[in-house]
Amino acid sequence: TTTVHAHIDGALVMIGFGSIGRGTLPLIERHIGFDRSRFTVIEPSGEFAHILREHGIRHLQVALTPDNYAEVLRGLFPEGRGMIVNLSVDVDSIEVMKLAQELGVQYIDTVVEPWPGFYFGSTLPNAERTNYPLREKVRELGKAHVGGPTAVSCCGANPGMVSWLLKEALLRLAADTGVAADPKSREDWAALMQGLGVKGIHIAERDTQVAARPKPLGVFVNTWSVDGLLSEGYQPAELGWGTHEKKLPPHGHRFDHGPGYAIWIDRPGADTRVRSWCPDVGPQFGYVITHNEALSIPDYYTVWEGGKAVYRPTCHYAYHPCNDAILSLHEINGAGKLAEAQHILTADEITSGGDDLGVLLYGHAKGAMWYGSRLSCEEARRLAPYQNATGMQVTSAVLAAMVWAAENPKAGFVEADEMDHVRCLEVQRPYLGSIECHYTDWTPLQNRINRFAEDRDEDDPWQFTNFLAV
Ligand code: NAD
Repeated sequence: TTTVHAHIDGALVMIGFGSIGRGTLPLIERHIGFDRSRFTVIEPSGEFAHILREHGIRHLQVALTPDNYAEVLRGLFPEGRGMIVNLSVDVDSIEVMKLAQELGVQYIDTVVEPWPGFYFGSTLPNAERTNYPLREKVRELGKAHVGGPTAVSCCGANPGMVSWLLKEALLRLAADTGVAADPKSREDWAALMQGLGVKGIHIAERDTQVAARPKPLGVFVNTWSVDGLLSEGYQPAELGWGTHEKKLPPHGHRFDHGPGYAIWIDRPGADTRVRSWCPDVGPQFGYVITHNEALSIPDYYTVWEGGKAVYRPTCHYAYHPCNDAILSLHEINGAGKLAEAQHILTADEITSGGDDLGVLLYGHAKGAMWYGSRLSCEEARRLAPYQNATGMQVTSAVLAAMVWAAENPKAGFVEADEMDHVRCLEVQRPYLGSIECHYTDWTPLQNRINRFAEDRDEDDPWQFTNFLAV
């Protein structure tokens, strides 16, 4: 479709023109009304400047820093109207969000990103290198800007789209198990999930995209930002912690401040595996890489009674990246140092495969259910230029967030869980390939190649200890 869903009044500023920025551009051109002479892309690299030239979009070739970001952005919004779409790495989301409030402009990002120095080379203890303090800071700031210009925090595919798919999945599970459901408020949604008996949710992803050229030794290859994956992959593993869980995992810690919906494990997410399940492949390993949705979902779906959390699901990412990224992680974990070269596979290089990205709801009456987007790279190529399947699931979510923000300009700080999932998926659905629901009788206690020592809980297959396979 080429429906124009919304108009942006004033300036449009995109920060970062990497794999996601490039893929978002054609979707903006197709579905958003904007003034081309007021569209600026801030991107320090000149590598893809030709695309901006071809599209007639102004390229401001600077890197934002703590010293210049306010001045640069102020200069682009002289009349205080418009939108900032932050798709960069190394630019502090919280600082830009504060400035957007001051300028009176809408804001969207896909991750709570800090300035350089947080992910690597930090002197902070590991508990403070998690996403929990970053998210808690954003939530606190939001309380001071209720009714302010809309600032959408963390809205790509995941975090982002998966929160909308989760709501569809819950309604589907309710319908399939004969439970009446018409949730309106956060409390209603949490009560619905509790009533359905969901113990936990994996954000279960399998990226099967492959290129013809084998991964060269020493080059880190991925289907989206290598910097992004490394940053979050070498934060501690982190997950929403369900009320049904009996014991913390080895090296697991609770947080000593805030609402305490999550725990962290003192090991890198990119070296912490869980047993999970995706359609097509069935049982598989996924990495427990920390993500905002592993925090926002358990927080959103907590049922409180008299100040006590009586229900909360466990929730985390269970990510099987593309095979080249698995091999890249294996190499750098073995070497104990980051790769010197990196590469993001383009849609042209990818010869087959796609991305299955969904939510795996487990522990309910029907066992486990995967609900999500199954998009091949071939289909992504047909749908829009400059992106593979992984990118398209992200960029179409950014588009949906832009539309929603334009339609709801004074919603203050929000996350995907708090947005209208029906409207957002309406905008995004044409770019998601096939949205499928799969039930399975799989549990993490099944399928072993010979038996070895394990910490198994046979009484409850859905305990985190049964999933964890470090
Ligand atoms: P990328 O590495 O391809 O591109 C990032 C871009 O930011 C680069 O072009 C880089 O030059 C630019 N940049 C670096 N420093 C900058 C600075 N100081 N000022 C302005 N720009 C700067 O990454 P990507 O794959 O496009 O991803 C972009 C962001 O989106 C990352 O933070 C990533 O973690 C996030 N992301 C989120 C999701 C999601 O589903 N929520 C998915 C993919 C990526």
